[in-house]
Amino acid sequence: NRPIRIRIRIRAQTPNVNNDNDDFVLEDVPHLTNFLPDLPSYPNPLQNSKAYAIVRQTFVHPEDVVAQKVVVQKDSPRGVHFRRAGPRERVYFKSEEVRACIVTCGGLCPGINTVIREIVCGLNVMYGVDDILGIEGGYRGFYSKNTMSLTPKVVNDIHKRGGTFLRTSRGGHDTHKIVDNIQDRGINQVYIIGGDGTQKGAALISKEVEKRGLQVAVAGIPKTIDNDIAVIDKSFGFDTAVEEAQRAINAAHVEVESVENGVGIVKLMGRYSGFIAMHATLASRDVDCCLIPENPFYLEGPGGLFEFVEERLKENGHIVIVLAEGAGQEYVAQDLHQVDERDASGNRLLLDVGLWLSHKIKDHFTNFKKMAINMKYIDPTYMIRAIPSNASDNIYCTLLAHSAVHGAMAGYTGFTVGPVNSRHAYIPIARVTETQNIVKLTNRMWARLLASTNQPSFLNSDEGIPEKVDQEPIEVMNILNRFCGCPPYMV
Ligand code: ATP
Ligand code: MG
Repeated sequence: NRPIRIRIRIRAQTPNVNNDNDDFVLEDVPHLTNFLPDLPSYPNPLQNSKAYAIVRQTFVHPEDVVAQKVVVQKDSPRGVHFRRAGPRERVYFKSEEVRACIVTCGGLCPGINTVIREIVCGLNVMYGVDDILGIEGGYRGFYSKNTMSLTPKVVNDIHKRGGTFLRTSRGGHDTHKIVDNIQDRGINQVYIIGGDGTQKGAALISKEVEKRGLQVAVAGIPKTIDNDIAVIDKSFGFDTAVEEAQRAINAAHVEVESVENGVGIVKLMGRYSGFIAMHATLASRDVDCCLIPENPFYLEGPGGLFEFVEERLKENGHIVIVLAEGAGQEYVAQDLHQVDERDASGNRLLLDVGLWLSHKIKDHFTNFKKMAINMKYIDPTYMIRAIPSNASDNIYCTLLAHSAVHGAMAGYTGFTVGPVNSRHAYIPIARVTETQNIVKLTNRMWARLLASTNQPSFLNSDEGIPEKVDQEPIEVMNILNRFCGCPPYMV
């Protein structure tokens, strides 16, 4: 499953560039001709389309690549690059021979329906493909459910609805049965929309297809509302989620402002990363404190959360706390003596940290401080997941879908699509599943948040966080835990 890494030495174009440091790494995606070398290619049908006359001028050159790093120092290596997404001059499928299918797996996220719609319309309008199947109910739908025929007419309005038109499920991934089914149905393009688990499944399907020597392109479209997919700039549905979260934060603020000693807690999505909580906090300006999984916090003692809540109540008469659902899970489990529970896909089920925190704060102020507080706990997560995507996500989903369609038609397989530094690229699936993006506490964005809320850092050291941890997400957590001289929670 390791991505293919090609290291190319290129000659420096300008005399000032140090020749020793111009290494260029292309993390390439597989192409059908890697294992089917005699496959014929055809002119891209877009060349004949009047509407796409302009595209004719802008076919992506097969050697165009996108740089992962845009900020570099003089003399630093050229670094990692990915193949640029977009229409190619030659394609590896005859339009009339394409039989495509689309499947959606994992949790809900705004924008799934837009991606489905745009794959169908993209295939049909740009490439004249009219044989597109919808696999119902996730991976197990390949072998246990019916399929539906998808046409531009059938999917015309679905982007206005939340959820997934094709329905979804967890568990039930059986690579052999799925590929048997792909073969039996004569499917030659598979579009798989889903999160990290789904993309791991897509990588296995693509390997099995390759092993069997089938002319089948497998394209993954990464979905995670948490925005924790590695490499790509942003995942679809994230903007919509941040926008919708404002309504919950605003409601909490209105509630706590209207009472004495109001404490509002809003729990947002973010299993392992706090991007939604961080961005919603930065966008709102009504939030006093943002708690995320990457930044362990503690309740009691100097610099703890209880002290901060008391300060803000004395100062403003109210406080709003936003927390990501994955924040402090280990400590909640310890405190509540809960055992690990898992869903059908093997993901750990999260404990309700928001409810736990609201009980802790209430208990502390009522029983210990003898101070009456008004607690308002809002959990809008399912409401946020269920809404349709907003305008910017709709455009983004369209670009993702079209990039996937162009990639599959051009014969690429085992790839996932997404913007890297604003340019859409084809990325080896393994590259986006091997690590997850987390909020880097040494990054400017978290510093901006701390400056905006003036909340405690929950670090017990004056030394700060070493800059080097910026590079290694896992190390961040280790070093942070070391820097907190006490257990992250002191309950
Ligand atoms: P999200 O976590 O954002 O809701 P996800 O895609 O990670 O989305 P999961 O329930 O973990 O959601 O997985 C979705 C599908 O992918 C399931 O059908 C599951 O069986 C399959 N899957 C999960 N992990 C793997 C894996 N390691 N290998 C193969 N298939 C997997
Ligand atoms: Mg997942």
